[in-house]
Amino acid sequence: MSVAEKSFDPLDRTLTLVDAKDDLDPFSCEDGVLKAQLSCGHVVSAESLTDSCRVQLDEGNYKFKCTVFVDGRLCNQPLPYREVRRLADLTVEEMQYFEENISRLAAADYTDVQTCPKCRTNIERMDLSDLCVECSVCSADQGESYLFCWQCLKPWTGPAPRSDRCANSDCRNYELQLLQTCTVTDLPQVSGADAVPSIRACPTCGQRVEHDKTGCKNVICPRCQKEFCFVCLKLTPVCLQTSSYFIPCSAGVAPRQTSIPVWRRT
Ligand SMILES: [Zn+2]
Ligand SMILES: [Zn+2]
Ligand SMILES: [Zn+2]
Ligand SMILES: [Zn+2]
Ligand SMILES: [Zn+2]
Repeated sequence: MSVAEKSFDPLDRTLTLVDAKDDLDPFSCEDGVLKAQLSCGHVVSAESLTDSCRVQLDEGNYKFKCTVFVDGRLCNQPLPYREVRRLADLTVEEMQYFEENISRLAAADYTDVQTCPKCRTNIERMDLSDLCVECSVCSADQGESYLFCWQCLKPWTGPAPRSDRCANSDCRNYELQLLQTCTVTDLPQVSGADAVPSIRACPTCGQRVEHDKTGCKNVICPRCQKEFCFVCLKLTPVCLQTSSYFIPCSAGVAPRQTSIPVWRRT
């Protein structure tokens, strides 16, 4: 990869730019090329940061760390993808490569765990759309199948074994209630976004996400790492096809969500 492919915009005030040596590649002689300072304080070029994170990703690590080696030790400070994307000045193709692999690795890593209401054992759920869950510890203990509802944590009363509907009349999904009753908010930086539900469920994995009210209308989900538009709830690349970062979405403000998206592990 040629060194001149990427360069930082000297006028970009969101970056801390320095004319210093590259801590990831101290023997390169790129004098005069501006480098960016990471949150850990180390100085990198867009190219060396891209290479370092790409190696980490290809080794199966999607929680990036600073790999600068100084005074006999590795920095290892976590680097959120949001920071990597900006400071590595990722191209559209690189972003696509990173995001596909990050979400694939995050999905494989993710386990959905709930505590059995009877014996308090942690139970992992394989099918994220199935509310009816068996506790194998209780089942073995009492000699018959013990089923409980993943949502209300009461003994199971609906159709079994697999069901997305619990028959307990007061079965409530706390997350869904939050989506339905949260306050509405505005996004100060986005024109026209003045009545947006303050809590959204990630359209990819269902994780609850709030907007920090700074920056553009898009947020990166902390669980699946997919970026989506907080206003219209489309994935960012889809929203951007007919809109841009700080202007209203062509689809308008998506209403409060009435169900929580289920993460499909492919
Ligand atoms: Zn560092
Ligand atoms: Zn149990
Ligand atoms: Zn229930
Ligand atoms: Zn997500
Ligand atoms: Zn949008």
